[in-house]
Amino acid sequence: MKSKSLLELVRMCQRIGKRIYYVQGGGGNISVKLDSTLMAIKASGFRLSQITKQEGYVIVDYSKIKNYFDNVDPSTAGYDFEKESVDVAIKNIVWPTEKNVLRPSVEVGFHSVLDKYVIHSHSVYANILACSYEGKEMLQKILNEEGFNIIWIPYINPGFWLTLEIKKRISTLDEKDKEKSKILIMENHGLIISSNVYKEALEIHEKVNNLIKKRLGIRGKYPAVKLEKVGEEKYKSRTKFIYDFIASKNVTHAFFEKYPLYPDQLVYVNSNLYADEPKIEINAKSKEIIYNTTYSEALAIEETLLAYFYILDQINKLGFTLKTMTQESTNYIKSWESEEYRKKLIKEMAK
Ligand SMILES: [Zn+2]
Repeated sequence: MKSKSLLELVRMCQRIGKRIYYVQGGGGNISVKLDSTLMAIKASGFRLSQITKQEGYVIVDYSKIKNYFDNVDPSTAGYDFEKESVDVAIKNIVWPTEKNVLRPSVEVGFHSVLDKYVIHSHSVYANILACSYEGKEMLQKILNEEGFNIIWIPYINPGFWLTLEIKKRISTLDEKDKEKSKILIMENHGLIISSNVYKEALEIHEKVNNLIKKRLGIRGKYPAVKLEKVGEEKYKSRTKFIYDFIASKNVTHAFFEKYPLYPDQLVYVNSNLYADEPKIEINAKSKEIIYNTTYSEALAIEETLLAYFYILDQINKLGFTLKTMTQESTNYIKSWESEEYRKKLIKEMAK
């Protein structure tokens, strides 16, 4: 039974993870509950496509994590619930047994309170709507016509409070809807499909994306990314879409600060522009991008950059109004300790 569920996890991770329009770098995560206490979930720092039956995931006692969220009293002002909930998750890792090797995804909380199969992607198609003011109404229309309900979650930083909000929203559903597969959209973040049926989780994820594409009139292939090695730990972006976007919009560092769209943009792109030795260099004259880092980190940044530009370009073409993250949320993500860990891990994996 457990082995079958693990195989399902690997299949879902491969299926979603190979598509860079669904997840970029180490973003997004998928989980499967193995029984009434154990859940396998992507480990922080891994790409979904790197997950095999042997590695790339952790198994947690999700019943204890869920129990924490069921009983916590969040009314104490100033208390560090973010830290406490991360500690609860780490304490409840049952595999691998070596301590401090892997961490579950920072989004382990909401996976724990949802159904057996949870697919969370950073789909560029869903994010066109999740990052524009017109998105909510449009998505509701598209999906209601097909008989789906959606749960729209206003932007909340990933972690404790986001899990509490998702839990609350699920608890207010009718008994009948609680049993059904669920579609959640997190504003300025991404998509979640939660289901007790393996096939439905994958099918609904595909269907939601196809319906959005159809309604927005998006045809043709999503651009492929291309990197060229130009030195030791030095890669040049050869992705035409990225080059064209930078050239036509005259993108400089200030552009990224002006339009913060979602957490992974800040983690993979913005933070790497401002380090003492920046990992991303944009040549103001030639409009070329050089990454001063390992191949796997350069690739993670390149994919994130492509998704970010693609979403901005679509929102602009569609005449929608861009909805950016607030300054407060942006500052919070920049100080994210667990994301520091995630970035380090990606670098290490490239060796
Ligand atoms: Zn996410």
